[in-house]
Amino acid sequence: MPVRINQLADLSANLWWSWHRDARDMFNKIDRRLWQVTGHNPVKMLYDINPGRLEILATDPEFLEIYDDVIASFGAEISGSDAWLAREAKTSLSRPVAYFSMEFAVHNSLPIYAGGLGVLAGDTCKEASDLGIPFVGVGFMYPEGYFHQRISEDGWQTEDYLLLDFERAPISRVCTADGQRLLLNLSVGDRQVYVAAWQVLAGSSKLYLLDTNVPENDLEDRGLSARLYSPGKEMRLQQEYLLGFGGVMLLRALGIEPAVWHCNEGHTAFLLIARLKEYMTAGHSRIEAEELVRRCSVFTTHTPVPAGHDVFELGLIDRYFSWLWNKLGITREELISLGQVPGGQDFNMTVLGLKLAASANGVSQVHGEVSRNMWRSLYPGRTAAEVPIRHITNGVHIPTWVAPEIARLYEEYVDKEWYRRQDDAGLWESRVPLIPDEELWHTHQGRKQRLLHYIRERVRRDWKAGVDSAPRLAAMGAMLDPEVLTVGFVRRFVEYKRPTLLFRDLEQLKELIRDSQRPVQFIFAGKSHPADSMAKELIHRVYTQAKENDFEGRLCFVEDYDLHLAHYLVQGVDVWLNSPRRWLEASGTSGMKAAVNGVPNLSVRDGWWHEGFNGKNGWAIGDISKPESVDEEDALDAGALLYVLKELVVPKYYDRNLEDIPLKWMAVVKESVSTVLPHFAAARMMKEYTREMYLPLI
Ligand SMILES: *Cc1c(COP(=O)(O)O)cnc(C)c1O
Repeated sequence: MPVRINQLADLSANLWWSWHRDARDMFNKIDRRLWQVTGHNPVKMLYDINPGRLEILATDPEFLEIYDDVIASFGAEISGSDAWLAREAKTSLSRPVAYFSMEFAVHNSLPIYAGGLGVLAGDTCKEASDLGIPFVGVGFMYPEGYFHQRISEDGWQTEDYLLLDFERAPISRVCTADGQRLLLNLSVGDRQVYVAAWQVLAGSSKLYLLDTNVPENDLEDRGLSARLYSPGKEMRLQQEYLLGFGGVMLLRALGIEPAVWHCNEGHTAFLLIARLKEYMTAGHSRIEAEELVRRCSVFTTHTPVPAGHDVFELGLIDRYFSWLWNKLGITREELISLGQVPGGQDFNMTVLGLKLAASANGVSQVHGEVSRNMWRSLYPGRTAAEVPIRHITNGVHIPTWVAPEIARLYEEYVDKEWYRRQDDAGLWESRVPLIPDEELWHTHQGRKQRLLHYIRERVRRDWKAGVDSAPRLAAMGAMLDPEVLTVGFVRRFVEYKRPTLLFRDLEQLKELIRDSQRPVQFIFAGKSHPADSMAKELIHRVYTQAKENDFEGRLCFVEDYDLHLAHYLVQGVDVWLNSPRRWLEASGTSGMKAAVNGVPNLSVRDGWWHEGFNGKNGWAIGDISKPESVDEEDALDAGALLYVLKELVVPKYYDRNLEDIPLKWMAVVKESVSTVLPHFAAARMMKEYTREMYLPLI
């Protein structure tokens, strides 16, 4: 690397570039073709680039000006000195928040996430960096990650696991002071397991990822961290044990002294026991140790149904924890009661989190309420309203999710430094109406073209690979039309989200899709859990319908929903559809991503939409109250969904002025941006965590 531009190496190794447009543009200018071929992976690009090209750039004044600007803002932001925490909260933290999570979706080049939980964790790391909150994430480096989805010719999901190319990913090995690979040695049950670690940088946030795939381990233990959410209860317990105990051990080995420990979902709650053990080893009584742990711990629950919580039978707890009560002055009963509801049979990770964290929260207003009711029995003598679980509604990291073309409009019409004022509701309310309708419309049409182009390129890939059945190509989206109102149903396939709600009345659906004047097209995407055969049936159903020529190629299923595809979809469809059964969607975040790109939501008023919908910024499916039975709920909502589409959404979309702009539609789009962006930005969320939880605990 030429000396003049050698900080490219540091920059490429920090995912900071991924949410800063100037940095992305700069990499694009270095080698446009390689940038695309590598799937926007600068580490890989600099690895593969012709050195002569770098020599030329190192003497090109125009490039150097860009380079110097990017490097300067990188340096300034990483230092955090001008960030929110220092500037407005007028404080600084000498010790970081440690945030434990089973998954992190920080970038497409690291497939160590399955869905919403990971996206939230990734967005949280990035926002912490933007706000100047010292932050370390702790999770797993799964070499095989989560699966890639393929749909077979006859409509069944198959799962491919691909090995990550560690050399060309934005990660580095964690080493000891003398440059050796750091290797922890952990007792797990009756075995010794070795754990190595990887570091990922996201601005000033650091992510530490545990990895058991080291030669010192036997084959079985090497596989412990191979995949996200491996099947089997015991495997799961071992992973969670590793995350909690290994994660704490790793931070200690690195000399990191967190000020606050944040458990993202029950999976991570063993870290609380690992710290309990530390305090007791240091001589504290159990009661003192519990209090010391609680005092600086935060627990976030994400699960709105009792069956969704992580539980282990006591036999497994005995197998992995009996060493603790034989040694430490805590009895089996005392330890087990930390994870039990009164009269409970199993060990429940959510209960553990609630009992050993001073601050606990759900992830939306309605989910807070659901959680308070669900865990009332843990707090005898209190009413549901008095249960100490609050809510902090999720948010999305705006610079990650807003399309560059839309960001330019915000820059021009909202504020030159709009990203610093993301959660300033007054600003958005007063400025968004000033964005000219034509400009916003054409910008969105451009993103829609990009989406359809991207989908067609995927179809072409299959065509090249020998797929030659027309129905399949249609079902994959070959015939989508940019002029047609496009509704996206894009989310994990699972029964409660009701992906096939639209199909309850096929005749009406066909009418809607085949209307010759005002047609509608639907894009579906989403993975189902490999063991969820019910969900696979749902994919099969959608896919089989999509292949029918009755639907005229206006219904499709796009394979392998991931971060990359998500960017195209949330920026490119016209309406974002969500249809969960009530109170089962803790928050949801994909609808926020759509809204901040000018894509209004059409959703049941559950999760974040319960508080986000205002009657003018999108559409609600059905009523706010929950019908008596599931059948009734499904029937009512299916009718309501088709009604809203036909009577409210379609007419508005196709009502055009002389320039072919749908002015009334644009009013909904703008209302959606101006109300959703400031309230559902990760900036708002992280400020709340900081003000209401982190700082008070500290
Ligand atoms: C945002 C996102 C999610 C979460 O979506 P919800 O449907 O709101 O739960 C899941 N997967 C990916 C790839 C995402 O980008």
